[in-house]
This record gives sequence, C-alpha cells and structure tokens, in this order.
Amino acid sequence: MPPVDRKNPKRALSSESGFSLMEFVREFPDDEACLQWLWRNRHSPDGEHAYCPRCATARRFRRYQTKRPRQTWTCTSCTYQLHPTSGTIFHKSSTSLQLWFYAMWLMTSTRCGISAKQLERELGVTYKTAWRMFNLIRNRLMEQDYVGMLSGEVEADETFIGGKPRESTRREAKRLGWSMQALHWDRQPIVFGAVEREGKIRASMFLTLLKRSAFTS
Ligand SMILES: [Zn+2]
Repeated sequence: MPPVDRKNPKRALSSESGFSLMEFVREFPDDEACLQWLWRNRHSPDGEHAYCPRCATARRFRRYQTKRPRQTWTCTSCTYQLHPTSGTIFHKSSTSLQLWFYAMWLMTSTRCGISAKQLERELGVTYKTAWRMFNLIRNRLMEQDYVGMLSGEVEADETFIGGKPRESTRREAKRLGWSMQALHWDRQPIVFGAVEREGKIRASMFLTLLKRSAFTS
C-alpha cells in the first residue's frame, strides 16, 4: 500500500461523496468563508467589483467595517447595497450560514441521505429548525435535480438566458478583466439542466447544490 499523507488524506476512489468532510472544513471553516463564497459566486468573481443595478455598470464594492461584521457590500459610487444571501434559502435565517452549508453537505454526501431527525442531532439545533432546513434544502434545492428522477452519474450544467449586456457594461467588464460569463452571473436568469450517465456516482452534488442555492429564493 502506498504511504498515507496524514495531513492531506485522500478519499477512497469508491467513495460516493464528491467532497470529503476534511475538504468541507477547509473550504468553509466559518460563517465568513460561506458569506465570501456567496459574494464571489453570486456577484463578484474578483471579490472587489460587481455589477451595480443602480449605476447599471460594474463598480467597486466595499464592505464597511462596523462593530458587528456587515453582511452587505456597498457600491463605492452610489452606496447601493448588495446582500450576498438575498434571494437564497438562507436569507435572514437565524441559523448560521455554516450550519446551512453543513446541512447541505450532510444531506448529499451519503448514499441514502439523512433524515430531519439526524440533522437535528448533527447540527445541535431544535427539531423544528432541523425540519425546516431539511424541507427547504430538499424541496427548494434538490427536488428538480434528482430526487426520484435521476440516478447514476449525473452530469449537470447551466446556461444563461436573456439579452446581451450593454456595450458600456461589456467594455467595463473587459477593462476589469472579467469573463463575459462572470458578467452574466448577476444579470440573467439561469437555466439548469442535468442528464443521467452510466455509473453510480453522485459527483460533487454538494457543490452543485451550493451553486443552485445561490440562485434559489
Ligand atoms: Zn452603484
């Protein structure tokens, strides 16, 4: 057997999860990391510039420091505020973002999934909270993807619909070095598709769900 790197354990090839617990903890060590993930994936690929709906162009956004860390980013030109969680199932939830992410991970990283009761135990929240989270994740995020419909290896992709961004916006994006796709993130509805393939792997279902969660209200 090859030596095992204890600091960087590798998942067995037969593992069904696309994302191990170690990888989860590394990627999402706290609420702030989860918020930053949403910010970058929903609005700002470079973490600094985003499309401002009021200015109708890409602008620099800042996160103003107050005693309690702010959940919003502010347009430096017009003070318009973007909330990375708005329109998602986590918005204004009293449950922490990291617990939400962890719940999604738990529900997608095992073959059989887990029950609301197990979620209650794992997250240390009340049954009522666990049940609510369980249903939002299952019904709002997972339903269309695969419950009862797809099995085996699932290939998923999304595409953007709607018109092209304005010429001025495209120029601004080019100046900032953004890809056109990054520009689309914030502006156009997304059509999500998934197809079944041979095999029995639910490849990175967790990450797919996270992507979906960013666009589900
Ligand atoms: Zn603005």
